[in-house]
Amino acid sequence: MIIGNLTDVDFADDIKVTAVAQNHAGIITLSVSINYGVNEVCDRCCTPFVRQYQHDKLFTVVKHIYSTDDLDDYIESPDGDLDITDITAAEIILERPAKILCNADCTGVPGFEVEIE
Ligand SMILES: [Zn+2]
Repeated sequence: MIIGNLTDVDFADDIKVTAVAQNHAGIITLSVSINYGVNEVCDRCCTPFVRQYQHDKLFTVVKHIYSTDDLDDYIESPDGDLDITDITAAEIILERPAKILCNADCTGVPGFEVEIE
């Protein structure tokens, strides 16, 4: 799995991962729960804060991916090995919000206009 890296993410604490693989009559599923905190800085008011993130994901493990439909729900594993570190890093990168706000109603720094998208 080729992914970016996590060097831009300032983790506030350890990343906690729970992963359970199950065989359902030959169909392998992998349930992953990722919990971590990140030291964030609000994009509008520049206030530092810690945000907790929780990602729960269920994958189907397949030997080969033949279609790009629903690609996010499958993990390709030709030899049956799964690298939880790569899966965790990919989920954290993919789930990073495009805009970091201390709260949805943040009006920015008092006295400055804010461009709201
Ligand atoms: Zn803010």
